[in-house]
Amino acid sequence: MNKYKIAILAGDGIGPEIMVEGVKVLKVIEERNDVEFELVDAPFGAGAWFSHGSSFPEETKALVDVADAVVKGPIGLNHEESKKIPVDEQPERGALLPLRARLNTYANYRPVSLPKSLSHFSPLKAEVVGEGIDMIMVRELVGGLYFGEKESGINENGKRYVREALEYDEDQIRNILVKGFDLAQSRKKVLHNIHKSNVLKSSVLWNEILEEVAVDYPDVEVRHTLVDAAATALCLNPTQFDVMVMENMFGDILSDQGGGILGSLGLMPSACLGTNGKAYYEPSHGSAPDIAGQQVANPYSMIGSMAMMLEYSFGMVDEARNVWDAMQAVFADGFSTSDLSKPGSGVTMLSTSEFGDKVVERLKA
Ligand code: NAD
Repeated sequence: MNKYKIAILAGDGIGPEIMVEGVKVLKVIEERNDVEFELVDAPFGAGAWFSHGSSFPEETKALVDVADAVVKGPIGLNHEESKKIPVDEQPERGALLPLRARLNTYANYRPVSLPKSLSHFSPLKAEVVGEGIDMIMVRELVGGLYFGEKESGINENGKRYVREALEYDEDQIRNILVKGFDLAQSRKKVLHNIHKSNVLKSSVLWNEILEEVAVDYPDVEVRHTLVDAAATALCLNPTQFDVMVMENMFGDILSDQGGGILGSLGLMPSACLGTNGKAYYEPSHGSAPDIAGQQVANPYSMIGSMAMMLEYSFGMVDEARNVWDAMQAVFADGFSTSDLSKPGSGVTMLSTSEFGDKVVERLKA
């Protein structure tokens, strides 16, 4: 029997609610496979700062170091509440970026996927969604502006100033591009390279490295797209995209737009893959403080992240597919969560836990 230790970092806001649903699904997978999941909860995020005086406590660091995989709910508070935490301890700076650095999860896979049967959830016209949206954004996750040196203070003119560096070395760029090419090669053999080389020198180097890496992938067609044009194209013609590769901040922003074209960030899971088999899995979205505690959050993003863990960390590809199919079947049966449909639109609305229950029923059927 395979035994896996999984760190469960439920996080803030809607994190704990959607994590419960992900765990329900994991239990079904465990029951019917020769596998044992040891789930260990640990504090992480704003709640951890208030309860433990650190948004990434030592006990959590020790756990993620030995876990076979980590699943993480979203973290963070609303704008006003965030100010109660010192700037450097606020969840992204104090916990999320350090987690990514610790596990060196440089490759972030964000599927943006909506089968034709669910195209009614998209705000885009039916003819734009066509046969469905199915792309994966590959985002560099441990470099660039988010990890560069930062300084702020008073300049020689007596003005407050800030400086943040966007840094990449060639290995960092090569590593993520290889992931993008590998994925493109395993899918439609088309790689959209998202950059801003008309302005940013970092993109010029990025594209230089891309030319070098491309030599090893003669069967993959590279299509260059400036990031601003990509934002428009995602709305006007999303079905042209299959694998998109990009640096950290571009990926942060475009992947949220990905959630927008699907109909909700609640449909956005992700996998954050590192070296030496290290990985963590999280919804792409934030902690949604506006709906926390109301049982209206869509747990698809969390359950989908668990499916990605089954595939990428444990090699359980068929069970991962079963989880996706079960979630999509629930929606295709005429159910919805409240982020995706308005009351009176002919669907039956499900709470967070009702959606999880339906997915479990489907999986067991
Ligand atoms: P958000 O992603 O939390 O929410 C944006 C909108 O999407 C909100 O209207 C929210 O209700 C909705 N939404 C998000 N997830 C949903 C789901 N599963 N079901 C239904 N609706 C959902 O973005 P925000 O409001 O800008 O940020 C809130 C907090 O989250 C901030 O503190 C921010 O720093 C943090 N954040 C954390 C992460 C992370 O943990 N990786 C990522 C992004 C933002």
